Amino acid sequence: MTDLKLKSTTTRFMKPEVKAERVTQSKTVPVTVGNISIGGPDFAVIAGPCSIESKSQFEETATAVRSSGASLLRGGIWKMRTDSQAFQGIGSEAFQFLQEVVENTGLGLVSEVTDPRQIEMLDNFVVMYQVGARNMFNYSLLKELGQTRKPILLKRSFSALIDEWIKAADYITNGGNDKVILCERGIRTFETKTRYTFDVNAVIWAKQNTHFPVVVDPSHAVGIRDMVPAVTYASAAVGADGIIVEVHPRPEEALSDGKQSLTVPEFKKMMKTLERILEATDRPLLKV
Ligand code: PEP
Ligand code: MN
Repeated sequence: MTDLKLKSTTTRFMKPEVKAERVTQSKTVPVTVGNISIGGPDFAVIAGPCSIESKSQFEETATAVRSSGASLLRGGIWKMRTDSQAFQGIGSEAFQFLQEVVENTGLGLVSEVTDPRQIEMLDNFVVMYQVGARNMFNYSLLKELGQTRKPILLKRSFSALIDEWIKAADYITNGGNDKVILCERGIRTFETKTRYTFDVNAVIWAKQNTHFPVVVDPSHAVGIRDMVPAVTYASAAVGADGIIVEVHPRPEEALSDGKQSLTVPEFKKMMKTLERILEATDRPLLKV
């Protein structure tokens, strides 16, 4: 009797067709993000500050990354900080100038949604919602994002198995939004020399076994500015579809993640080498 009950519950909730589709469809299906496509032949670079701190800081960074070849802008409005006393983002204050800066730069904005109540507000400004590592397990947020029709950059939690990451993506796609882009941003290991450990295996696995585009966040993956370019090159070499990277005009003054933010000249230099590495993999840098 108990067995029978279990069996019917399993049939009702497992949705085996979702899994099967993923296994058979291992070729990346590109996702349209604003006026570009991620997961196609071109390698995308999403760049900008960890946090949007002021109009001038965001404007300066946005202009600089655009002229160095970025294809999308990043910038946090609400931050998920481990320390409750740390800078939490400027929040809706950013809405006073966001539109103007984004329009002037001509690049689409990617920004993190930390609470389902922000979805509607952010919708006017972003071409893609970012789900942070700390929210990958926030299933009510993922379900709400499944109801939107904008792409979702789903960061892997630093403690998540690849399987848990892919299953989190299902929470979004089950709602009818299949525009998910996976983001590997480093995991927690026993190592303490770097902030996290870049899991290159996860990138290769996700590319080979899912149809989602995969990007890498080299900034959080190592947490050390001088190591960010090498992680970017490694990502390109193993077939990632792009990166999301932190850049700040004066990292020493940054209100969050200054230690891992590239300066503008460092970003520029990295982009030049990246193009040469991409050339070797027959993959052009995405130009907007
Ligand atoms: C960020 O992108 O600034 C961020 C907080 O990333 P993560 O969620 O990966 O820690
Ligand atoms: Mn950051």
